[in-house]
Amino acid sequence: MVHIGYQDTKARILNIKKSLKMKSPNCGHWNRVPVNKIFIEQPSSERKVKVLIPMYEPSEVVKCKKCGKIIAEPKQLIGIRKKK
Ligand SMILES: [Zn+2]
Repeated sequence: MVHIGYQDTKARILNIKKSLKMKSPNCGHWNRVPVNKIFIEQPSSERKVKVLIPMYEPSEVVKCKKCGKIIAEPKQLIGIRKKK
């Protein structure tokens, strides 16, 4: 999973509410995070082609239930990158 800067992107928010499981980087506990699915426009080498990348925006601040550390917040997008 990768966090990217929200300000650098053009995001299209769809009203798709989902929940993701995220592992606490601090203690390893798995937490459920409510998210909205959005699409990010990525600049492409070919100008006429728009590349949309699906990402997830947490809809609220989520703290780990075990250690209390913040693991997700609305301005930090969650992306799932496939290995090439
Ligand atoms: Zn934790």
